[in-house]
Amino acid sequence: MTKQEAKQRIEKLKRFINQQRYQVHVLDRSDLSAVALDSLKKELFDLENSFPDLVTADSPTQRVAGVPLEKFDKVEHTQPMLSLQDAFSEQDILDWEARITKLLSAKENEGLDYFCELKFDGLAVELIFREGLLTIGATRGNGLVGEDVTCNLKTIEAIPLSLRGEDEIVSGLKAAGLAEVFQSFKAAEELVIRGEALISKKEFAKINQQQMAAGLVAYANPRNIAAGSIRQLDSKITAQRKMDFYAWDLVSDFGQKTHEQEHLVLKILGFKIHPAAKRCSNIDEVIRYREYWLKHRDRLPFEIDGVVVQVNNNKLFDKLGVAGKSPRAAIAFKFPLREAQTMVQNIIVQVGRTGAITPLAILKPVAIGGVTVSRATLHNEDEIQRLGLKIGDTVIVGRAGDVIPDILRVLRELRTGREKSFKMPHACPVCGTPLVRKEPDVIWRCPNQKCKARQRRYFYYFVGRAAFDIDGLGPQIINQLLDYGLLSDPADLFTLQETDLLNLERFAEKSAHNLVKAISAKKRIRLSRFIYALGIEGVGEETAQDLANIFRSLRKLRAVSLEDLLKIKDIGPKTAKNIHQFFRKKDNIVFLEKLFRVGVKVENTSPKSDSQKLSGQTFVLTGTLSTLERERAKEMIRRQGGNVSESVSSDTDFVVVGENPGSKFDKAKKLGVKIINETEFLAFIE
Ligand SMILES: [Zn+2]
Repeated sequence: MTKQEAKQRIEKLKRFINQQRYQVHVLDRSDLSAVALDSLKKELFDLENSFPDLVTADSPTQRVAGVPLEKFDKVEHTQPMLSLQDAFSEQDILDWEARITKLLSAKENEGLDYFCELKFDGLAVELIFREGLLTIGATRGNGLVGEDVTCNLKTIEAIPLSLRGEDEIVSGLKAAGLAEVFQSFKAAEELVIRGEALISKKEFAKINQQQMAAGLVAYANPRNIAAGSIRQLDSKITAQRKMDFYAWDLVSDFGQKTHEQEHLVLKILGFKIHPAAKRCSNIDEVIRYREYWLKHRDRLPFEIDGVVVQVNNNKLFDKLGVAGKSPRAAIAFKFPLREAQTMVQNIIVQVGRTGAITPLAILKPVAIGGVTVSRATLHNEDEIQRLGLKIGDTVIVGRAGDVIPDILRVLRELRTGREKSFKMPHACPVCGTPLVRKEPDVIWRCPNQKCKARQRRYFYYFVGRAAFDIDGLGPQIINQLLDYGLLSDPADLFTLQETDLLNLERFAEKSAHNLVKAISAKKRIRLSRFIYALGIEGVGEETAQDLANIFRSLRKLRAVSLEDLLKIKDIGPKTAKNIHQFFRKKDNIVFLEKLFRVGVKVENTSPKSDSQKLSGQTFVLTGTLSTLERERAKEMIRRQGGNVSESVSSDTDFVVVGENPGSKFDKAKKLGVKIINETEFLAFIE
């Protein structure tokens, strides 16, 4: 290939690869596979290797530069990169609107509209293009002077190394109806834009995993990684970090009238903008916009910490000017913080339903995400050790969704020396019974079944959603009922009278009537819920459902032998033992009888009559079944479409083996027919 041919080929490859970048990153659609694109890049790389003087700065091969830098050069911003004032509440944003409208004339206020966009949790940077080529990329720095991080920003595929071709831009402007507004636009001129370098949640998690695996400290948030990656002296490291970029500001003035137009033009020039950005015609729309993204932020692949609101009209934006270090016409309308700093005033322990002791941090009350938080779970003794937490420490508390907050970090640097270490108590704080901890369990437990704290927790559990599901009966009412001595065990709930409730706080005739009715309505209960409500250790919702499916009636479950329980596939030996023991303890027998006496009716699980899932399968039964009569078993198979045969042959699909099986068992073994026991059979036909 001659040099002239190589030059032409290189130009074509560059243009094509850049167009593909625009397709993928800006338009979010691609008609070329990543493999194909890589092979084109490889060809370009090889050609440039043969003709090194044909390498240009905007070549896609130049994204990762060779040598690490000693330090970053300083870059003066053409216009200061101002920071934004924060608004946290609706009132804040209304106050902001009142402040700006006061500075504008009545006529100016008439058509006042806003532009809203996502506030990325990343690093703001400025990009300068000269003659269409990315020349400088800089951090915000102190707002006036930043650092030249061009070679690191070049590693981000979403950032174009050159603007799109002039012809593409002109036709893009025409199509968007912006040709007149931007008639002074010349790609050859200097172009300054701003945007955000950021990292996805997925990449954030991946990097933190690597950090931990290497024994390093995990990053606290994606912004920290973004900043750390952009301020890397070795751009090879930045390149590994798969960063993203969204443009949000066109600084150069080409006659654009609104911020909305700037977003449109940025896209036409070749930058990625986020489609959530939108014009809002009044402040109510702005408030709704933020509300929407507060609710849906988890759908985004990256973190945002609020929305940015600004006056859409650029003339008015400039007229409103700057106050302190921030423009008056823009504001960061933030989401409530999900993290806050506070102090641990005390550490107490809580006794759970199964006797598990959970340490809790009592916090100086602090608002997190719109909720005041005054306690955080510490999970167990080991967690306190891991955090190195002492009473009196200043801590960072975080809340995810609606769960009880966790302590994320202890700020040891702020210690005064008066902090006190926490010692796990040796006895239950409620009943005084010595606590036990069986290795490898990390949890200490109060072993006393009659412990008042355990009983209280059991009440909450018994009426809970997955158990008896009694409407309007929360912990507060249960506490009152217990304190008034109206309940000794959950069976007493079903004998409560309206007059009992009228003595309690906040109860009137109507509410008392409703609660008694709500309790009574739940006397009939499905077997699975009832089993769950018994609170047998190791029996969660799933296991309770399994047991209900297998045994179908409480009578059969109570009668089952430990041996048969141990045969059930999904139930471990410990849980099997717990179940077996539960129904043989005197207290529990008394409790069950009491439940039935007060009117609780457990509905047996009915077999599914319409299922045909055994269709075409042949069963042979041998030996004595313990929970089923043979005729009943046959009926169950037939009802689900299966066949029952008296002799084993190669056509037999399953042989169900009970106690003392006969010759059929041996024959099945010889023929290699699948052999199942009774419990497996019961689970199978479910
Ligand atoms: Zn206790």
